[in-house]
Amino acid sequence: MEFNFEGKTVLVTGAGQGIGKGICMKLAKCGAQVIAVSNLTSQLDDLKAEVPSIRPIQVDLDNWNETREKLKDVGPVDGLVNNAGVAFINSFFDITENDFDRSFNVNVKAVINVSQMVAKGMVERKKGAIVNVSSQSSMKGHEDHTVYCGTKAAVDGVTRVMALELGKHNVRVNCVNPTVVLTPMGRNWWGEPSRGEPMLSRIPLGRFAEVEEVVNTILFLLSDSASMINGVTLLVDGGHVAA
Ligand code: NDP
Repeated sequence: MEFNFEGKTVLVTGAGQGIGKGICMKLAKCGAQVIAVSNLTSQLDDLKAEVPSIRPIQVDLDNWNETREKLKDVGPVDGLVNNAGVAFINSFFDITENDFDRSFNVNVKAVINVSQMVAKGMVERKKGAIVNVSSQSSMKGHEDHTVYCGTKAAVDGVTRVMALELGKHNVRVNCVNPTVVLTPMGRNWWGEPSRGEPMLSRIPLGRFAEVEEVVNTILFLLSDSASMINGVTLLVDGGHVAA
């Protein structure tokens, strides 16, 4: 799928590796000015070396005030992808306060924080698109994923209300909800065959998603081709949730 983002600026969080890196590279290929936000400077340096037009900004999204300070001068942004996420996998009785706080800080609070900063200008200009990267885990329970599933259900809820409030100003807000993708995060848990194979058996298409398939869906939702789509949770799951 090819898109034209010439003349558009898009900010992507969690840009250092995995799906976020894929989004940045494809957006740049499609002509966007990309602002890549991530935590590890070394990952951002690698991304910049591969695509010199990308503007990297190192931010620890876990920290609300640091995020506001470092993003206060980003300038006008046409598209935002809230992609950064963490997964602390623990059985229910082993969940710690740290698992909970860090997960909700990055997966949910940062979505609100970064969107508040970026969407102000979108509302003033009466145009913009935001895509929040949720998960099939917002709709299905996965063993040992209490906190992760909770954060992604929250992302779906936050997205719906953002779509209501920002939609009035022609700013569209949607979610993508992928199944397993074998990025560093995905491999960490589902790369183990005793966990991956049962999951695969529950996906009607019989395979995990490729980064490219999630990236294409995000670019579609960001693009004017999706101009009437607002407030959806768009599964990219090979039919897992339907099964
Ligand atoms: P990865 O862990 O592979 O990459 C996540 C990126 O986000 C990393 O560059 C990471 O940087 C960055 N990041 C994490 N925490 C912070 C932070 N506090 N501040 C700034 N950057 C941060 O994950 P994926 O690419 O797999 O996941 C991307 C999104 O897709 C996430 O929201 C995830 O929940 C969602 N998702 C993933 C699925 C999968 O199977 N992979 C399935 C469904 C949804 P660092 O390396 O420094 O931590």
